[in-house]
Amino acid sequence: LGSDLAAELRAMDGASYGRYKSLTGRWRLTAGAPPAVVLEIEKVQSDPFAPPSRVAVHMGPHFTEMPPELCATAVRRRALAGFLARTAAEALRGSACRVDAGRQEVLARSSCQVDADGAVTLRLGVQLPGHGRRIDGYGAERALCGELAEAVAGLRHDALDAEAARRFVESVEDTDALRRMLPSLGLVAFVADGSVLPRRSGVDDRPAAPGAVPFRSPESLRVEVELPNRGRVAGMGLPEGVTLVVGGGFHGKSTLLRALERGVYDHVPGDGRELVVSLPRTAKVRAEDGRRVEGVDVSAFVDHLPTGADTRTFRTDNASGSTSQAAALVEAVEAGARLLLIDEDTAATNLMIRDARMQALVAKDREPLTPFVDLVRSLHRDRGVSTVLVMGGSGDYIDVADRVVMMDAFRPLDVTARARELAAVPTGRAVEADVFPEVGSRVPDPRSVDPVVRGRRKIRAHGRDALGFGEQDIDLRAVEQLADAGQVTGIGLALDRLVRAGHLDGRRTLAEALDLLEAELSVEPAVEPAAEPAVEAEGDGPVEAEPVGALRGGYPGDFAVPRRLDVAAALNRLRSLRVID
Ligand code: ADP
Ligand code: MG
Repeated sequence: LGSDLAAELRAMDGASYGRYKSLTGRWRLTAGAPPAVVLEIEKVQSDPFAPPSRVAVHMGPHFTEMPPELCATAVRRRALAGFLARTAAEALRGSACRVDAGRQEVLARSSCQVDADGAVTLRLGVQLPGHGRRIDGYGAERALCGELAEAVAGLRHDALDAEAARRFVESVEDTDALRRMLPSLGLVAFVADGSVLPRRSGVDDRPAAPGAVPFRSPESLRVEVELPNRGRVAGMGLPEGVTLVVGGGFHGKSTLLRALERGVYDHVPGDGRELVVSLPRTAKVRAEDGRRVEGVDVSAFVDHLPTGADTRTFRTDNASGSTSQAAALVEAVEAGARLLLIDEDTAATNLMIRDARMQALVAKDREPLTPFVDLVRSLHRDRGVSTVLVMGGSGDYIDVADRVVMMDAFRPLDVTARARELAAVPTGRAVEADVFPEVGSRVPDPRSVDPVVRGRRKIRAHGRDALGFGEQDIDLRAVEQLADAGQVTGIGLALDRLVRAGHLDGRRTLAEALDLLEAELSVEPAVEPAAEPAVEAEGDGPVEAEPVGALRGGYPGDFAVPRRLDVAAALNRLRSLRVID
């Protein structure tokens, strides 16, 4: 353990930049700092213009003095880590150090981890300063021994805003508990009364400024739940089955659906969506023309194409709007989705509807497409997959919906009864299918999933929208539930893990491989042990699966743990993917 980092940095001043490399290793952060804090310099940038150097700060439990109740369960530790990362990021704003704290979502991140005994590890990037190609030793001392050391001191429990930390942890715990309650309530989603759904703008996910109409559930769909910290809360519970959301343009339909998309994540206090939850296995499905599709059975939707292509193992490098959406839907079911979300704004009309007149004009044997309206019921009845669908432009779904919610000036109304009356008058439309067939299980070829370029693993997020994976870029713009670039990197690491850990072995189906991956990544078991013993168990307790560690595999940068469905969505968009026939 190097003991005097400051002196070392000052001594380096003016030396050539490459000398920074000699810092690699473990240091006492400042001369006077308690030995319980270790600065680990993991990776040093080779020049001042390279991506930042990577350091980790390990803080022992005697330093942090976290109260045991804040670290008692895996969910609480993730939440506390989220709070600490945000606190550190705030303290380091404008400095040479950068902590990846995320935004509105509270995800398991590599940037901060809290152990059951209260130990905290903070991982961050540091732009080591230089004067041209010479070391700026005094600047580096200021960054590491000044700014960083101060921010670290601010993470001790007695330096924190303890009340805010507790609120943050309890809020996330409530969200998580609410989401876990959904199945036993027979629900696929819940939106608490008082929630604020609209966002500031299409590129700013913070809550809309004052003026937003708070959510209020319709009486008939109102459900009351008991949360561990907030106690009783009421809101709209969406039951399993088929839910149709209708309403005039600009009345808040898409905003509701987008909140449900993000309901797979926990949100920071003040976000407005703290108590908006959906099943973890919720998949937003949309059209995405131009994407690749590899061996997907889309025959339920698409049959006898004019080209004669076999649609039970459908392949294309350039899917149309309708076939891309059919593929996305089947892929989601294959990967284990329990709830599908579809918005007319991003759906392919010809895959969604085909009315009586069009049926009369274009005979069924001239039309390869079977519209979703004829499959959505069976999808729930026979495959156990529910759907929430926004459709303001066609009434055909009224016949197949279990309930109809109308958004009226941002207020949901239950108009199911009125819709039933209308449905009693037949439209003359013929039903074109009655069973959503069992989804076949593809076996991906692991050799087709390769991030290595000239001997080096290349995984790089291009913001939130694309993943550089080996020699390819995976376009993720249509994978709408991704929250940030950290998850994109996490997906890259997960794809690599699927192959390197042998989960994808050329025999297992994609779903089986995802099961294995998910077991490694789910730190938060459905049943938590009672809150107290976590601290006593230190040392000899069972070693908990640790998702960040499982994914890291030597990767030095920041990432967040992705969802299983998003890993599958990225794999399905990898242009080199091959499935074994
Ligand atoms: P639709 O899909 O029904 O056409 P949107 O959901 O796109 O409508 O909403 C239209 C506009 O209204 C958006 O700018 C959105 O931010 C805003 N909005 C949505 N819900 C609310 C609300 N509860 N309060 C205030 N504005 C809202
Ligand atoms: Mg809309």
